[in-house]
Amino acid sequence: MQARELHTDITYLKGVGPGRAQLLGRELGIATYQDLLYCFPNRYIDKSRFYTIAELERSGADVQVVGKIIHLKTVEQKRGKRLVATFRDETGEMELVWFRSQQWFRDRLKLGEPYVIFGRANWYNGQFSMAHPEMELLSRFEQQARLHMQPVYPSTEKLGQQGVTNRLIIQWIAQLLKEVSDQIAETLPASLREELGLVGKQEALIQVHFPDSQHKLARAQARLKFEELFYIQMALLLKQQQRKRKIRGFAFENVGDYFNAFYENHLPFELTDAQKRVVKEIRADLGSRAQMNRLLQGDVGSGKTIVAVLCMLLALDNGYQSCLVAPTEILAQQHYQAVKALVDPLGIRVGLLTGSVREKDRKPMLEALENGEMSMLIGTHAILEQRVRFQNLGLAIIDEQHRFGVAQRARLWKKNESPPHILVMTATPIPRTLAMSLYGDLDVSVIDALPPGRKPVRTVHRSDADRLRVFAFLREEIARGRQVYVVYPLIQESEALDYKDLMDGFESISREFPQPEYQVSIVHGQMKPEDKEFEMQRFVKGQTQIMVATTVIEVGVDVPNASVMVIESAERFGLSQLHQLRGRVGRGAEQSYCILMSGKALSDDARTRLETMVRTNDGFEIAEVDLKLRGPGDLMGTQQSGLLSLRIADVVRDQDLLRTARHYAQQLLKADPELGASDHKIVRDKMARMEVFRQKWDYIS
Ligand code: ADP
Ligand code: MG
Repeated sequence: MQARELHTDITYLKGVGPGRAQLLGRELGIATYQDLLYCFPNRYIDKSRFYTIAELERSGADVQVVGKIIHLKTVEQKRGKRLVATFRDETGEMELVWFRSQQWFRDRLKLGEPYVIFGRANWYNGQFSMAHPEMELLSRFEQQARLHMQPVYPSTEKLGQQGVTNRLIIQWIAQLLKEVSDQIAETLPASLREELGLVGKQEALIQVHFPDSQHKLARAQARLKFEELFYIQMALLLKQQQRKRKIRGFAFENVGDYFNAFYENHLPFELTDAQKRVVKEIRADLGSRAQMNRLLQGDVGSGKTIVAVLCMLLALDNGYQSCLVAPTEILAQQHYQAVKALVDPLGIRVGLLTGSVREKDRKPMLEALENGEMSMLIGTHAILEQRVRFQNLGLAIIDEQHRFGVAQRARLWKKNESPPHILVMTATPIPRTLAMSLYGDLDVSVIDALPPGRKPVRTVHRSDADRLRVFAFLREEIARGRQVYVVYPLIQESEALDYKDLMDGFESISREFPQPEYQVSIVHGQMKPEDKEFEMQRFVKGQTQIMVATTVIEVGVDVPNASVMVIESAERFGLSQLHQLRGRVGRGAEQSYCILMSGKALSDDARTRLETMVRTNDGFEIAEVDLKLRGPGDLMGTQQSGLLSLRIADVVRDQDLLRTARHYAQQLLKADPELGASDHKIVRDKMARMEVFRQKWDYIS
């Protein structure tokens, strides 16, 4: 759409003017012709049929009726007056009512002449009544070409107050289409449109505003949605292509001694096929000379850590250092211990760097990193501090991406003159379609199977009334040598109250499970890191049987002997949190249990969440439900949600279209990476115009 006219200030559209232009800008973000053209209706009202008054139902629906005003009167009320008309057709009578501009209507309404009225018919005082109906004389109504389906545009209170009604917007859009519709250029290649049977751009834009029929509307919407999704995918894929070409990565060409020695002699278990496949994918990527930017998705407990270790060994085999960044101190420590135990036999030096590492321990570590004596570093955000410098950081692995800010990721890039390879591991599965839109420029590997021998966790939902039975069950499990988590919600808004709940819970559990027979640990965010660590370790070593905690244990903690997860006030947790928490058990060979405790009164959403947890252990399925309940914005955090605010498509409802769009974008780029074919000029031009948009994406990854 090169037409300069589309960039015309909306002020100049007939009937708009400076005042309303300002209002449109403020309220709807409409500044130009183009903005208005792309201001799509929220919904449509089907005016393709008329109702008689006898046919009206008490449904509160918007209806269209033909009849005559036979009587008009002003009725005094306690609060002001109203103008009331008796409206009649051959089947009955109803009332029309005006509260505002009564004189104006009184002067203009014609008695005894047929009108077409439209509005919501409410049942009131024994008859139907319509307040401030849209109305037009039947004689005029018949002269005009009718819109079968009337668009309803977004509106705001201010717009309404200032007289910018839906009807006015319709007039403006009609005017706009009259002026510019012949300048609406096609933006999808002909071959693609033919293959997918998509209607042309001009037709689509006209029909989406003023549809001739439901069918034509659906086709117009499909076309516009496809286009929107297609170009986002093009932008993401082009970015990926450019990154692979431009940013030289460190080539990890050797699969050398460390990797092989570890793989052959020190693997603690056989890798699952899924793990093997993923390692292969990553290896190919690391060896390709392009910088890797890969997302590793795997459900809780699918075994991502060992994959990380193998990648770190690959880095070392090629003479590079690597680091693993975890979101919490506890998790960093746990990773450190796990990785150290695994690679110690190979004589590899691993360091742990977190906020609580003392200065005197920190200094030698920083030196060892800088002169290359230390090959692997595990830690928290502390790794990102500027004074942490590597000799040659070749690979950075980020665990549990949900807690890791984008800006922080960017800081990893600054550790070298060239960016290290990046592997982001996510613990919570991201629905495929979301992953496609948010991380569409990253390569994705998925570990889609759990290690063998795992028994699926059994999940039940219990209420406070069942508490004694639950305690009895815990006693049984502990008697069999198992350990138990009891988790309490903690959110900032109700922190004080939540801590009280936690402490009350801790006390009551300590009473139910008295010393010396039982030992109970407690871990929460207000404790000092070393106390937390001490308590964690007691639990890890099996010295305590019960761990009472807030969600600090949510991510990553691995205690295979723990077999019961009790979640208190489970209705207050989000689905992904519940899933994460449940993932803390079921790691050993024993049957594990998750007990969701809640009150009796539950909101619909809370009930759906708990039912979903009871029904399935599949993280991807849970993620899909979560997406439907919360919408993409909430699910991914505010920073990223902006990118999902599409004009017409919807990443949840239009999943099929999104997949199709990605598929065709991939195909097109594969066949014609430079977009040089004449049929692809359209795409090239459009991409150039999307520059601004692409910069927004750059910020993300
Ligand atoms: P996550 O993907 O949640 O980070 P972890 O890497 O912590 O999972 O692995 C979960 C548990 O499964 C750990 O105890 C780990 O040792 C074990 N594990 C991982 N892979 C395998 C495998 N292939 N066979 C058996 N156990 C495995
Ligand atoms: Mg993990």
